[in-house]
Amino acid sequence: WAKSAGGARWALYDAERNQRELARYALSAAIPAALERGEFYLDYQPLTSLRDGSLVGVEALVRWRHPELGVLRPDSFIGLAEETGLIVQLGGWVLAEACREAEAWSAGGAAAPFVSVNLAVRQVHRPGLVQEVRTLLRQTGLPPERLQLEITESTMMSTAKEPVRALRVLADLGVRIAIDDFGTGYSNLAYLRDLPVTELKVAGEFVAGLRSSSVGRTDERILASLVSLAHALDLTVTAEGVETAGQAERLRAIGCDAAQGWHFGRPAPADRILARIR
Ligand code: C2E
Ligand code: MG
Ligand code: MG
Ligand code: MG
Repeated sequence: WAKSAGGARWALYDAERNQRELARYALSAAIPAALERGEFYLDYQPLTSLRDGSLVGVEALVRWRHPELGVLRPDSFIGLAEETGLIVQLGGWVLAEACREAEAWSAGGAAAPFVSVNLAVRQVHRPGLVQEVRTLLRQTGLPPERLQLEITESTMMSTAKEPVRALRVLADLGVRIAIDDFGTGYSNLAYLRDLPVTELKVAGEFVAGLRSSSVGRTDERILASLVSLAHALDLTVTAEGVETAGQAERLRAIGCDAAQGWHFGRPAPADRILARIR
């Protein structure tokens, strides 16, 4: 009867999993109405220069103030929004809101940081991205140099020509292009030759290993190699997930240009970032 008990356990597991899937679908389907009700907002996390501690940029991270579930982090709704295609609508809102808020930061003058926006694969593959960004820059008055688009290695995995062409046009306008979570994807590096990339954002998992264990030494060597690769290609490197002063110090020693992580600042609403810029 052990076998049938196992079967029951699996049935239970499947039921729970179905329940979770249903909940995810319901959540995703609610995105358009939530956009209309203004339930989404952006937090911004600082990207800090490891050379002089200045604020070089901020990354826009979407949050959903859900009326019943509280504030939801992107991991609970972005994945499914990508699968269903609703990410195009949501991502369009994120892009517009980030450009609008970032433009307001420069009103005081001086060196305003760039705003870095995550783009899902579908957003980059969809025709119309160039026009969307052009229109936003014109409407908000944000200079193209103050917008950075973060794409992942998976965006470049297909052989489609359209994304490369679109990103080239945007780069020609002056928009910055960053590769997010660099080092965790499986694509080959040919896209670094074909694309006008300006920055590599090295995944936090390599940074997490920065300590004196032998694994840590391997992570440090990987980071050092990524930094030389980037610099050889005239790209800047930002390390993600920097949580301690020790990690920041190692990254500075390796030659990493900038860092992002709790050690330098948690994601925070626009007004807190504005206070820091001033
Ligand atoms: P990401 O683009 O790699 O963003 C960095 C994530 O790391 C953020 O999680 C941030 O809160 C978290 N983080 C920052 N510093 C630290 C640290 O020191 N330690 C640790 N452990 N984590 C840190 P978040 O906000 O939950 O976002 C998760 C992911 O959701 C993002 O990863 C990005 O891939 C995606 N995402 C967020 N906003 C958007 C968006 O508007 N559009 C799209 N397509 N994806 C988005
Ligand atoms: Mg990102
Ligand atoms: Mg990242
Ligand atoms: Mg990520």
